[in-house]
Amino acid sequence: MTTEYRVRLDREACDGVFACLVRDDRFVEAADGLAGIEGGSSDLAATSDGGTETVAAFDDDRLDDARQAASACPVDAIDVTVVGDE
Ligand code: SF4
Repeated sequence: MTTEYRVRLDREACDGVFACLVRDDRFVEAADGLAGIEGGSSDLAATSDGGTETVAAFDDDRLDDARQAASACPVDAIDVTVVGDE
């Protein structure tokens, strides 16, 4: 079963611990040493507080992987939202 969901990564909060990478290989180390998201349709957006975030939209069966990455992140930089649940 596929689910449509969005993964938001707050790159301001991220401190490059990379606990997320081992839970979900769509999280990758970006050139600046912080995490990035691969695949999906992603976007770099400025946040209201001047930081940047990456938002990627997916429609697949890997929602649990994304959620595990989110709960593994020690600084809560990853947010997973199921489309329609907002
Ligand atoms: S686990 Fe969190 S802090 Fe660590 S790299 Fe991933 S998003 Fe960044």
